[in-house]
Amino acid sequence: MIAKAVAVGRGVLPDAADSGEKMVVWKELVDKVLDAAEKCPRTAALIYTLSTGEERPEELVVPDMALFRQEHEDLGVGDVTTNTARKEVVAVDRILTALDVNCLTEDAPAANLLGNSGVVNCGVGLWVLPSFINHSCHPNARRTHVGDHAIVHASRDIKAGEEVTFPYFDVLVPVSKRKEAARAWGFECHCDRCKFEAEDVTLRQELMKAENDLVSGGDMGALVVRLEDKMRKSLVKERRKAFLRASFWSAYSALFDSDKLVRKWGRRVPAEAVVAESIADAVGGNERVLRAMLRGTKDANGCGNRLEVEDKVMRIGRATYGKVVKRNAMRSLFSLTLDATNNINL
Ligand SMILES: [Zn+2]
Repeated sequence: MIAKAVAVGRGVLPDAADSGEKMVVWKELVDKVLDAAEKCPRTAALIYTLSTGEERPEELVVPDMALFRQEHEDLGVGDVTTNTARKEVVAVDRILTALDVNCLTEDAPAANLLGNSGVVNCGVGLWVLPSFINHSCHPNARRTHVGDHAIVHASRDIKAGEEVTFPYFDVLVPVSKRKEAARAWGFECHCDRCKFEAEDVTLRQELMKAENDLVSGGDMGALVVRLEDKMRKSLVKERRKAFLRASFWSAYSALFDSDKLVRKWGRRVPAEAVVAESIADAVGGNERVLRAMLRGTKDANGCGNRLEVEDKVMRIGRATYGKVVKRNAMRSLFSLTLDATNNINL
């Protein structure tokens, strides 16, 4: 799905931008959205289809998809030039609540990969149709942004009839962090991954301890070894292992980032590429996972022969950047991904 933004507010902010600086970007967006709604009844109508976050589930209606087609623009809306000249009266409060619950921040891989260190390219906008897609911590789609367009593509195989979901926030964190993030968005996540992590009795104590250790710092290698041992002893299935590895991603990546920790613990944990492949099964494509896969396959440890490894890398690449990217272009993206030394917040 490719959707053009109603409007986007953008700014290049220092890493430690205060709320005042962020407000400037937000204000720019609000002004642009109100302006667009005043100038074009169709835009206003589209915004009114969005949730305000206050409806009961049975009140949420799926709008007629024809509304979103470009050719619909002229239907019943009259002459476009008169519309731009005339300003419609719009329900400002209604639009502001819709903005509150439906705005998305831009995940621009190129900007983040190539961006200057110390600053964050901040973009927040309203894309109407993608706003109807729900969040999951075990998503099957992913959003990338090119210019004012949001591109939603599958990040793993999707069964017919399966709901399309993408992550609203970083899902490579433990369940309690994800709960916090969901609360900030005004919802509770009931995805299969959250259910498993919140309800599994056998692992509960180990997971709570691991979360504490993650926060307090210390030897991340020891944390990973303990988690892997526990999962092996409790006969945790591969799919669920993938969920937990995704949750404790920062511990795994701290381990693999440190030569010292790899020397100390490397023999007792699965290889980096194996972990990356497993996490990709849980969260689909992701720059950080792809980077681990690329780095991990240099020694191709436990990942199969050269062709199998190349296939796996290409699969995670497609899950991250989209299926239509040509092999050569994908290779360039791979080298950018590997070279990225700045923070990749995707
Ligand atoms: Zn969840």
